[in-house]
Order: sequence, then structure tokens, then C-alpha cells
Amino acid sequence: METLGFIGLGRMGSRMAGRLLQAGYSLVVFDASASAMEQMVKAGAKAARSPADVASQAEVVLASLPVPPVVESVALGQDGIIHGSRIKLFVDMSTTGSIFAKRIAKGLASRNIVAVDAPVSGGIAGAAKGTIAIMTSCSAEVFERLQPILAVMGKPFLVGSEPGQGQTMKLLNNLLSAAAMAISCEAVAMGVKAGLDPNQMVDVLNSGSGRNSATQDKMKQFVISRSFALGFSIELLNKDVRLCLEEAEALGVPMIVGSAVRQIVGITASLEGPEGDMTAIAKPVEKWAGVTIKAKE
Ligand code: NAD
Repeated sequence: METLGFIGLGRMGSRMAGRLLQAGYSLVVFDASASAMEQMVKAGAKAARSPADVASQAEVVLASLPVPPVVESVALGQDGIIHGSRIKLFVDMSTTGSIFAKRIAKGLASRNIVAVDAPVSGGIAGAAKGTIAIMTSCSAEVFERLQPILAVMGKPFLVGSEPGQGQTMKLLNNLLSAAAMAISCEAVAMGVKAGLDPNQMVDVLNSGSGRNSATQDKMKQFVISRSFALGFSIELLNKDVRLCLEEAEALGVPMIVGSAVRQIVGITASLEGPEGDMTAIAKPVEKWAGVTIKAKE
């Protein structure tokens, strides 16, 4: 089977790359962290010295990197994939926003490398199971070439043909995910203060019209349990909501509710620091309400 490149072996990347190895692809990998590399090499991947080295050994290079400037340096920097000798397609599964995606696509086009937007949603559990939504934007021909590879990691959707359209889809998805978390924390904190049982409240909400991704997949699992261990950092969510609001403003679309979501996400990010989980949005709400969202004794 084909040799693929994979750069960025963090919470998401390690799981996606692991599925590709299991499916029989040969992988050449790179990560700035030695321990992340070691883990993938143990699982059967070949270590590369730099992004450029990855791109000299594979036609298709995938990436799952934290923030836009890192993606830009991995793509266009001194040791970036742009200097690789074999690469034809750069498939960016990170969340970078459409402005960066367009800039990277333009930079890579100068070397005849096609950039494909392919940001994902579905969390680390979905990445491990291969159920993430993959929001691809590229030509139909490139999509056909990539589909078998992407299908190993999740469900690929062709959402656009221009660089950046997949990113726009991803940002608005995460705005909704953040909004659901924020408003669910406020609602459940209110119920707790009024004497209701949080576990039962979540059961009622999930049987009624209040249900959403936070009540279904996060509130019991990571807030009421007090684990705050979904595996998506509040810092990365803060980046996503910020990028979304910037793009909405550029498009001339109101973000009245979105602005409130940005405030609570930003406050949580600054209180929790880089290690904080997105489910910790509950914590400032609890503090202001003077309650803890935990199971009744
Ligand atoms: P992470 O921080 O766990 O992983 C990022 C990896 O990139 C790390 O292993 C880090 O060492 C590596 N890295 C950083 N700088 C590098 C560089 N210059 N060169 C090579 N490697 C470098 O992040 P994550 O949670 O896996 O998220 C990755 C991307 O996926 C982000 O853009 C995030 O917004 C998006 N995402 C995350 C989730 C989630 O639930 N965690 C869900 C959907 C999308």
C-alpha cells in the first residue's frame, strides 16, 4: 500500500495516524515532540527529520497541528513541506480558519503542491473509532484520490472546491459546540442551585427539546464526573471561536450570541491555562453561581 506522510501526532493526530497504520498504509511521520514520535515509531511508523523530509518520501502528506502559525511554518517555513521532492497533496486536518488556508494554498501552489482543507470534528474518541466528520474542500478529482485514505479516519464530506471552505464549515461547527457547552453549563448550574439533581436533569434534557452535544456527550461524562477530560483543550477552542468571529465579521454576519460565547470561552481559557479542557467552561459558571455541578449524595 501507498506510503503517506503524517505531521503532528498529538491527541488527534496520533489516533488518526494509528488507524492508517492499522489499515496497512506505510507512514513517514514527524512531530516536534520526541515522545510523540517515539510512540508512533513503536506502532510501526518511520521517523522523519523534518516536515521537508516527510514531503520527500510521500506524495500525500497529512497534518494535524495545533494553531495556524505552526501550520504555516510546517507548510512554508525553512524545513517546511514546500521543500519536499515528492509531495503533491498537502491535506491539512488542523483547524486554521479560511484566511490561513488560502494563504497556505497560495504559497504551496508556487511549487505545484495542492493544498486540501480537511478539518475534522468528533473528538479524540471519534478519531480513535474512525467516526470523525472530515470537512474536505478540493476538486472532485482530488477528493476521489483521497477518499479511501480519509475514509479510514472518518466520514469525508466534500463541502467545497475552494481553499478555506472546509475551514469555514469547521469553525461554524465549533461555534455551535462551544455555545452548546456554555449554555448547558448555565442551565444545569441554575437547576443545581434550585435543588435539582444534575444527572436526572441531563436525562430529562436528553429526552426533551433541550438536548444538544454538551448534554449528550459532555455534561455527565466530564462535568458531573468532575474529570474534565474530554481531550479538547480550551486554548484550542478559544482559537476556533476567535477565528470564527473574525471570519463572520469579515463576511458581515452578526455574531450577537457568538460574542457572548467568545467571552466565556476566553475567560475559561485564561483561568485554566494551556492544559485546561473545554469542558472546564463549567468552572467559572459554577464559581459565579456558587454551586458545584456534581452528583447528589
Ligand atoms: P495537540 O496539541 O494534542 O497536538 C498537536 C501536535 O502537534 C503535538 O503533538 C505537538 O507536539 C505537535 N507540534 C506542535 N508544533 C509542531 C511543529 N512545529 N512541528 C511538528 N509538530 C508540532 O492538539 P490536538 O488536540 O491533537 O489538535 C490538533 C488539531 O485538531 C488542532 O488544530 C485542533 O483545533 C483540531 N481538533 C482537535 C480536536 C480534539 O478534540 N482534540 C477535535 C477536532 C479538531
